[in-house]
Amino acid sequence: MSTKRIICPVCGCKFDAEFEKDYFNQRRLGLDGNAHDIEQFNRVYMCPTCGYSSATQITNEDAEIIELVNSDEFQAVFKSEWSEGFKKWMLAGYLSKASGNHYDAAYEFMVAGWYIRKCGGPVDDFVYAYNLAISEFAGYIEETFEVRPALIMLDLLRQIGNFEKATDIAFGLKDSEVDENAERVIDFELKCISKMDISEHFVDEV
Ligand SMILES: [Zn+2]
Repeated sequence: MSTKRIICPVCGCKFDAEFEKDYFNQRRLGLDGNAHDIEQFNRVYMCPTCGYSSATQITNEDAEIIELVNSDEFQAVFKSEWSEGFKKWMLAGYLSKASGNHYDAAYEFMVAGWYIRKCGGPVDDFVYAYNLAISEFAGYIEETFEVRPALIMLDLLRQIGNFEKATDIAFGLKDSEVDENAERVIDFELKCISKMDISEHFVDEV
């Protein structure tokens, strides 16, 4: 872990943030990419004054982002009762979404959901975060047709019990000639879907 002095690109406030390394001790990697390492949650910082949150050390932001951070809606979330670990990933997700960065937004909303699951927080909160992640993954896949994010989206859909949509995605992927590994993951997901299994599953189970 390393401490870096951050100057908030929105309000100019100076604060120290601790950054984690990018590689974690993956105990058992989830099918959604969850490393199940508590340190993965420290990869985002939140300005203690205005709530600006980011996983990257941005030095300036455009007027639209500054306006969004200062909006009543954003500030209401920043000052909400949500735990800090959840809030900062959600706020970072809102800002990436506003910048049109679907992949980062999807990932940040998903990590917010992982955090809630790790803490045993309310189901509604992680379902809310996963749904936001799913819609951002969908936006990203529409542009790139990448398989890996589609597999993650499939896993999240199953975990929130949206079996109908998960099945559609699974068969859509099977039709698009994916590689053998992806095919195995899809078949595993379909097996879980047939049992209405919403629990977390791991790469080593496939
Ligand atoms: Zn700030």
